[in-house]
Amino acid sequence: NADLAMYKAKQSGRNQAHFFTAAMQEHANQRMTLEQDLRHALERNQLEVYYQPIIAGKSGRVQGLEALLRWHHPERGLIPPDQFIPMAEETGLIGSIGEWVLETACEQVQQFYAAGHELYLSVNISERQRDLGLDADAVASVLKHHQLDPSRLILEITEGLLLQDSQETVAWLQGFKGLGISLAIDDFGTGYSSLSYLKRFPVDTLKIDREFIRDLNSDRYADSLVSAIISMAASLELRLIAEGVETEKQRLTLIGQGCNYMQGYLFCPPLPADKLTHWLSSYQPSPCVMEP
Ligand code: C2E
Ligand code: MG
Ligand code: MG
Ligand code: MG
Repeated sequence: NADLAMYKAKQSGRNQAHFFTAAMQEHANQRMTLEQDLRHALERNQLEVYYQPIIAGKSGRVQGLEALLRWHHPERGLIPPDQFIPMAEETGLIGSIGEWVLETACEQVQQFYAAGHELYLSVNISERQRDLGLDADAVASVLKHHQLDPSRLILEITEGLLLQDSQETVAWLQGFKGLGISLAIDDFGTGYSSLSYLKRFPVDTLKIDREFIRDLNSDRYADSLVSAIISMAASLELRLIAEGVETEKQRLTLIGQGCNYMQGYLFCPPLPADKLTHWLSSYQPSPCVMEP
């Protein structure tokens, strides 16, 4: 019986090992397939840039647009960027993809101008793109090609980049600043940025991560973090944008605390260019109604 128990344990252990290997193998295969698919996504026209309005909270007016990448996978449907940007970064595909996003968004924004919407454009970039040829010259030639004024462009980078605090990074960002492009720190508050980091980088704008906006009015930690970021931004003369604003209450709280710029589903989700064109032409800004 002891032998039988031993035998069974071994069997099930073996099966378990087998199960794990199979699952892991399956996972690796899926990843490899997705990676292969991503290699062809660009040439197969599966990528699309969506645009989300950035709003002045008090007036409700649209100030700018953030370009947000989408992947229409033929079998899996719409894949959000969080599920393939990291892969694009690891494989270096972010080089050509990022370039394409910038080109596409600049061209599109020029069309919004033509339709009478004088908005600025915000584009996310990965630090990996620094080593893949995205420098001030490259961006300058895209802007020139689309006759877009550099002061109309904001490049969004995540906090992680500041942590390296390297001379190369500062020089890279300074190159964009030299052209008159603005720089924003995305997802602010989720990393470990501090005042001293911010001082060293030529940054103009902070975007408060939506995690904190979600918890506004319900979590005292989020409340005090947001108000700390707001007063810090004011004293450093940084522009501030709140991400993920979904309710009038959040809008009101943010304005009350001194953060006027915001984006979120309350106003408009990210939309494909044609849908956004319609949205822009029918949108009626509603001013924020402050409590008496
Ligand atoms: P992000 O730059 O912080 O973009 C804001 C994200 O918040 C977007 O997610 C947007 O759809 C979402 N969002 C906006 N308003 C609301 C709201 O009211 N509620 C909620 N729950 N979410 C809201 P998305 O489009 O899935 O993009 C995720 C991230 O992928 C972006 O975060 C950005 O870091 C990255 N990403 C997107 N496009 C690009 C790109 O072209 N290049 C690079 N390098 N990264 C990109
Ligand atoms: Mg962003
Ligand atoms: Mg963000
Ligand atoms: Mg993000």
